[in-house]
Amino acid sequence: MSQYYIWTIGCQMNKAESERLGSCLEQLGYQATDTAEAADIIVLNSCVVRQSAENRVINKLKSLEARRRAHQSTTLAVTGCLVNSKVDQLKKGFPYVDYFFKPGDYPPWLEKPEAAPVIPQHPSPSTFVPIIQGCNNFCSYCIVPYRRGREVSRNASEIVCEVKELVHRGVREVTLLGQNVDSYGHDLPDKPGLADLLSELNTVDELARIRFLTNHPKDMSLKLIEAIAYLDKVCEQISLPVQSGSNDILKAMRRGYTVEQYRQLANTIRSKIPRVALSTDIIVGFPSETEPQFQQTVSLLSELKFDTVHVAAYSPRPGTTAAREFEDNIPPTEKKERLNTIEQLQERIAREVNAQLLGKAVEILVEGKVKGKWQGRTRTGKLVFFNDNKDCLGQLINIRIDKTSPWSLQGEVIKLK
Ligand code: SAM
Ligand code: SF4
Repeated sequence: MSQYYIWTIGCQMNKAESERLGSCLEQLGYQATDTAEAADIIVLNSCVVRQSAENRVINKLKSLEARRRAHQSTTLAVTGCLVNSKVDQLKKGFPYVDYFFKPGDYPPWLEKPEAAPVIPQHPSPSTFVPIIQGCNNFCSYCIVPYRRGREVSRNASEIVCEVKELVHRGVREVTLLGQNVDSYGHDLPDKPGLADLLSELNTVDELARIRFLTNHPKDMSLKLIEAIAYLDKVCEQISLPVQSGSNDILKAMRRGYTVEQYRQLANTIRSKIPRVALSTDIIVGFPSETEPQFQQTVSLLSELKFDTVHVAAYSPRPGTTAAREFEDNIPPTEKKERLNTIEQLQERIAREVNAQLLGKAVEILVEGKVKGKWQGRTRTGKLVFFNDNKDCLGQLINIRIDKTSPWSLQGEVIKLK
């Protein structure tokens, strides 16, 4: 049987797209393999959000050159954010690559054999569902709108059908995906919002949980916050990237909100959704970020005490406004130091936040086994490990937490008397 190998880096959107691509290849009769050496079709699903990710993609591509040249029957394809509109230039740089295709824009040999939706054949109990592609925001530092184009929402009825089919295949939890998921629907004829889609999905039988990411603070409406509060299947977990605690930096980033507006939004969310877990993204070392401006970010994180913080050092991306207009003038050592400061601060905060769960009962959805232990997530997205001899995969299980750390929790199954 012919085999395929998909290598993926980057965001959840890339992971979801790789799963779907794999499903498509399986419908064409290919079988998955873990190594490029054994594969007849190799696909690299790339990310170029930061230079470090782009370097990994280029290194991976180079490492495959010898194999591709030695095996003429192997097909090597590249998708994801590396693929820009100048495919000719990419082909010149990597002549041994057979196909470059934009995300979802499959070449003819990958066309679906029938009209069946290309959803995973054997999905995990917790599965990603892309609902909106692209981004209209053009934050000054970000390459995504240039590589993934403008926002295009999928039809709500198509998404609901797909979720029902996934549930039929054993899925209990879906995570709706978009670069800007809370602007879902504005481009559709009757302009449904994410809140409307959540209400519809909340009625799907056997679906236990719904999550969604990533939200843009300027698009998070009160209607959406209330939907999260009232819909029982929608989990109490919200990703809300703030990026900086300085209004001057937010303006230069073109984020479209102020620190005061963000703080108010976070407070509204917390007052309407008790026990909600908030996560955020931070960029340190944006051009001309001064030490006091960086300290404003530190204070905001200390004040708001997020459950999770993803921090990245600013990386100039060709073609973006920031790369054109601002000098990348914060030395790498300084960026690294600021990054470490945020990581250490967040480790302390997460330790404190997670410790509040000690002795508490939480419901988790079991997603798999790692090193002999079952692992799953709480509704708030916390990773929990526990032991059990039974097959717990895909089950909702109540656990009493007996150990916490900044990154995960451990506990024991609560036995019903
Ligand atoms: N749409 C989301 C938002 O509004 O923040 C996030 C999508 S973005 C692709 C994922 C994260 O990558 C961002 O939150 C940002 O922190 C980071 N990122 C994007 N461009 C970057 C750059 N040029 N340098 C460093 N980090 C960057
Ligand atoms: Fe990039 Fe900004 Fe769009 Fe997020 S909202 S994908 S950071 S342009």
